[in-house]
Amino acid sequence: MGLADLHIHTIYSYDGTATVAGVLHRAQEVGLNVIAITDHDEIKGSLKAFDLAPKFGIEVIPGIEITTAEGDLLALFVTEKIEPGLSLIGTILKVGEAGGICIAPHPMARGMGMKSLSRSSIIQALDHPEASRILIGIETYNATALDRESNAYAQILAAEGPGIAQVGNSDAHILETIGLGATEFLGYTAADLLDALWVGATEVRRGAQLGSARILGSWAINYVLSTPARVAVAD
Ligand SMILES: [Zn+2]
Repeated sequence: MGLADLHIHTIYSYDGTATVAGVLHRAQEVGLNVIAITDHDEIKGSLKAFDLAPKFGIEVIPGIEITTAEGDLLALFVTEKIEPGLSLIGTILKVGEAGGICIAPHPMARGMGMKSLSRSSIIQALDHPEASRILIGIETYNATALDRESNAYAQILAAEGPGIAQVGNSDAHILETIGLGATEFLGYTAADLLDALWVGATEVRRGAQLGSARILGSWAINYVLSTPARVAVAD
């Protein structure tokens, strides 16, 4: 089985602390086969990771976390920025035009600066004939969600959508949480993973659960230390 973490942030995110090379090194170290760097409304770090990935022996799926008018949305297999601020369905259709697929991250989760999709927004998208062919996964395990209940709500929601892929991710903003949430799939490549996502054949793997105080504390220290690097790559 292959292992993927499809929700990782770098210093190209306003709130990320890890460099692209740092993420790739850590991903290799923890045994991930496939990763996606999904910075907030920014694709540069993801494209850089895609270029560097062969050196680290892992595959990178280009992606982005888009701030839609209704909450955050992960877009994978896209190589261009998708405009933020549009409706959820409007955004999903744009991702589809760009050749990508979508995953609803941390549905209904609340926490520091977290903008999550509501249950009704997701159900509406899954009922939409075109959007439902692009929104093919729900993140039913987010390893660093500060409110633990949201993962349970996400599982209930996924159980209502037959065939929808369940995905585990870290949503790492610091190196140490990479891979703590992951997705298992048959095969080892990004293409194998996409096949599994299409048919809802992925499985969630949970790693060590770090307390929210530990995550926030580590993030705060790393945020300060990484500020020069974040500033250097910002526009
Ligand atoms: Zn995120």
